[in-house]
Amino acid sequence: MGVPTVYGAVLDAATRCIHFHSERDIVAIKFACCRRYYPCFQCHDETVRREPTPHTTRRWPHVQWSELAILCGACQRQLSIFEYHRVDRCPHCSAEFNPGCRLHAHLYFDEPQ
Ligand SMILES: [Zn+2]
Ligand SMILES: [Zn+2]
Ligand SMILES: [Zn+2]
Repeated sequence: MGVPTVYGAVLDAATRCIHFHSERDIVAIKFACCRRYYPCFQCHDETVRREPTPHTTRRWPHVQWSELAILCGACQRQLSIFEYHRVDRCPHCSAEFNPGCRLHAHLYFDEPQ
């Protein structure tokens, strides 16, 4: 399985972007609407707005949380959304994830009802 392309205003190989680029901002998220990886929702929205046919952002419904939709920028391996919610560091390479990302989780994932 190859490393997926990360779109948007990416700054480095660890998927930091112009919006989020602290030491621990190392995950990219695949969007349910276009199945593309972006470092953050702002990267997604800005890219989509410039496209000839913009689309509406869609979050992952809970029934699809087994989808591999998280890319660890440190080791380039993918996690499912379930896995990502269970850990605070990458299960493959132990790189720490930014706990602040949880504040934005509702922008990407529909919480279970
Ligand atoms: Zn999209
Ligand atoms: Zn961004
Ligand atoms: Zn990793």
